[in-house]
Amino acid sequence: MHWFNVNAAVPELYEPYIDPLTEDAVTAEALEEIFVPDLVEQELNRSDDHIAIPEDVLRRLGSWRPTPLLRAHGLEDALGTRCRILYKYEGSSPIGSHKANSGMAQAYYTKRAGRKRVYAETGAGQWGSAISLGSSFTGLQCDVFMVGNSFDSKPSRRILMETFGAQVHRSPTVQTQAGRAEREREPGSPGSLGLAIAEAVEATKADPSASYALGSAFGFVCLHQTIIGQELKDQLASSDVRADVLISCIGGGSSFAGLTFPFLTEPSGRRPELLAVESNAVPKVTRGRFTYDHGDSSGLTPLIKMYTLGHEFAPPGIHSGGLRYHGLAPQVSKMISLGMARAESYSQIEIFDAAVLFARTEGLVPAPEAAHSIAAACTYAREHRDEERTIVFCLTGHGFFDLSAYQLYLGGDMEESDTPDALIAESLARLGPDPASRTAASRSATPHAAPSSAPVTPAFADWQRRHLPPQDVAPAAHTGVGPRAPAATAGTVDLTRAKVVTERTLAACGPDTTSILLQAQIVVTPAARDELRRRGIGVHRHKQDTR
Ligand SMILES: *Cc1c(COP(=O)(O)O)cnc(C)c1O
Repeated sequence: MHWFNVNAAVPELYEPYIDPLTEDAVTAEALEEIFVPDLVEQELNRSDDHIAIPEDVLRRLGSWRPTPLLRAHGLEDALGTRCRILYKYEGSSPIGSHKANSGMAQAYYTKRAGRKRVYAETGAGQWGSAISLGSSFTGLQCDVFMVGNSFDSKPSRRILMETFGAQVHRSPTVQTQAGRAEREREPGSPGSLGLAIAEAVEATKADPSASYALGSAFGFVCLHQTIIGQELKDQLASSDVRADVLISCIGGGSSFAGLTFPFLTEPSGRRPELLAVESNAVPKVTRGRFTYDHGDSSGLTPLIKMYTLGHEFAPPGIHSGGLRYHGLAPQVSKMISLGMARAESYSQIEIFDAAVLFARTEGLVPAPEAAHSIAAACTYAREHRDEERTIVFCLTGHGFFDLSAYQLYLGGDMEESDTPDALIAESLARLGPDPASRTAASRSATPHAAPSSAPVTPAFADWQRRHLPPQDVAPAAHTGVGPRAPAATAGTVDLTRAKVVTERTLAACGPDTTSILLQAQIVVTPAARDELRRRGIGVHRHKQDTR
């Protein structure tokens, strides 16, 4: 059994990550600062269409895979449609969602790299549960930074993680600089996913025996989820059924990727329509922008070309915690931008309507995230009620941990979700003007050179011009391979011993400072980045590191 590597099989979907400070494509060395080498290799692999699933991982997955492909007869009858509605049920994993697929793989590779500990963040607790279980199976210590308000309001997910042996920390913690800074700034802070990521990354960097595990959006996570689509292909073929449309909800996009990527190589006449479903509260595709942005709200990750609402977008508190993410996996984003897939959005009441209909007709209580796919499947089945089409959606998880949300819905107390245009516009404005609205002439007038290792889009050139201090932009001659050599000028301050660069670090740099020297991929906080820009201080990164 293999995973399907879309980066090799459909190369036009690949866009490299960009380091905002060096503007180069992010290198394997940089990614290895936080991820183990096997996962970095998978992230950057553009040559193998298929990547073998290790025996040990297969054995673990085999305790609940292949997941069933079921037919929703009851739902079809209730909708009065001639369409056939099938669903791939990922809620049958031990933690109740598809996230276990990557949890098993990431724990395996972390152990294999000789690490003792894995750090992860979790919002609602789903990814935390997956990596906790994987860690328990492989004998790793697992530390999960759980967003404070979820920690307080969702004790059952925390207890599940602890049952699997993980240590769950209420983020913000006092263990990390990022956590302490937040607690100082706002005593009693409820935390956020961005902050939990920042804490997990900081903890990882400070501990050479540890590595970081990530639940969605990155290429290797999407890769691990392709087992879903490959099983589906076999299941459809064995019953001689061809799908007309494949549907999954999009948080970071890993389940959608896993379901659909293996179908991209079907001949065009046989390829199903691909439909991604988002919450109208977090409408990155239907109302966001396709551009370069950070993957986390603190601006610590590289720049990723994706659909985004802006990394500082604060998603409203909907019950579909897994969809509260401002961005989307770059390959999935590219698919949509090229017209290979499309997206729809649904509101919270619409998806609970669909969830309860599904529960009553199929006997299965879906996770609210998965209910987005059910709502879209119902719409499709109604629109094509007189046609014998085959709809397949991914039921990403069960809703047994979400019963309090069902209680609100059933009691008539569920709030409708939407995000005002003004809020989205404000968040997108923080990314700068929409390059699509600028003239070609003004775009081509951009004074800065492209990093040669990465295709530069007008959006990114524009981003560079607005955000990078002039001396930090590559001269035309720069090769773009790796960080630039440190400038040996008098104003350079050596910060290669720093673990993180904050405003306080910079306050210690004298007024003559013209540039600072850092280890590759040391975190520069967004506030410190602003300060660098304000003072016109350049950043040089050093390749060697202690790890
Ligand atoms: C996390 C999660 C999602 C969304 O994540 P993707 O990476 O987009 O798949 C969807 N459904 C469930 C049940 C989840 O736990």
